[in-house]
Amino acid sequence: MDLYEYQGKELFRRFGIPVSDGRLATTPAEARAAAEELGGPVVVKAQVLTGGRGKAGGIKLASDPADDEAKPEEILGLDIRGHVVRRLWIERASDIAKEYYLSLTFDRGAKKVLLMLTREGGIDIEEVAAERPDALARLHVDPLEGFQPYQARRAVYGAGIDDPGEQKQILDVVRELYACFVECDAMLCEINPLIVTPDGEVRALDSKFTVDDNALYRHPDVAEMRDLEAVPAEERAARAKGVTYVKLDGEVGILGNGAGLVMSTLDVIALAGGRPANFCDLGGGGDAQGVVDALEVITADPQVRSILFNIFGGITRCDEVARGILQALEQMTIEHPIVVRLDGTNAEEGRELLAEAAPSNLHTEPTMLDAARRAVELAA
Ligand code: GDP
Ligand code: MN
Repeated sequence: MDLYEYQGKELFRRFGIPVSDGRLATTPAEARAAAEELGGPVVVKAQVLTGGRGKAGGIKLASDPADDEAKPEEILGLDIRGHVVRRLWIERASDIAKEYYLSLTFDRGAKKVLLMLTREGGIDIEEVAAERPDALARLHVDPLEGFQPYQARRAVYGAGIDDPGEQKQILDVVRELYACFVECDAMLCEINPLIVTPDGEVRALDSKFTVDDNALYRHPDVAEMRDLEAVPAEERAARAKGVTYVKLDGEVGILGNGAGLVMSTLDVIALAGGRPANFCDLGGGGDAQGVVDALEVITADPQVRSILFNIFGGITRCDEVARGILQALEQMTIEHPIVVRLDGTNAEEGRELLAEAAPSNLHTEPTMLDAARRAVELAA
């Protein structure tokens, strides 16, 4: 789960990392009230779950009170690479002397936490890593040994930070960020830029924060930060119904039982020249209600043009799935063509049930490849 900048900064603050004072606002009037409360110049920052907001016009300095509503007006509703701005973070503006970069992330290859620090912050870290690797201090923290103070010192020296005042503050920030990363079950904590003010004060000016979904049950306060409005309607429905759903980019909605079969179905759709719009995994169950739930989720995706059921009966009985499909068609209007391939346990019974009812938009095919071809054809 990705957090907004202001949410990440709230977690930073809890762990002692210095951040600027700020307020959340959703309207220009709220933004102005926040600016007045903070006093002096503020930065108006779009809160969206994507980076590069500055370049996209999502971050603006409001230096005089006339700007306190004008800048929020400009930024609210802005579309930043598909993310519409609905929330603003109004923050007391900082004077910036230097922009550094600090992050903690997983290096899955090394099975360790990777710490990266460079004086070349404020820009894409990929660019620094590719073009000036020497400027980037990288080191691993062994999860069993835990974080050791010498590692922060090594990173600070490695990055060429030689001002003693900065060194001292950054050593603290590194230690605090590591504690924050581990205790929040984070997968990424990035501060870009980590600034130094003209007075020599170090502060986190941005936050990119990803928490492991599988650990959210341990952090109810973090789980509550999820912005349900930022999630597409069908993903919200899937979560509420407990349906395993993944959104993709094409036109064919896919329902299968079991992750392996679903993955193969994606490949076969590609082989047939089509592209999957999404997929639902019915898992080992596939009872009628499960089919209804999954169909509701899949058809809520406006990109879907046809639906492919790929069922291999093992524990799942094909007749049960067939009944689920027919029941779903009674309960809801589905305009999309539906292609069904049933194989395995009770496949014959399942096909008979479908043939008897024979809804006009339902097509059965004997093999996975035939079914995929048909579904792709019908989506065209
Ligand atoms: P991003 O573009 O999404 O990474 O958003 P950031 O929060 O990193 O902001 C982008 C840039 O805006 C920063 O690198 C700064 O140069 C500038 N910026 C952000 N906050 C302030 C501030 O308080 N004062 C000044 N002068 N510049 C700021
Ligand atoms: Mn940034």
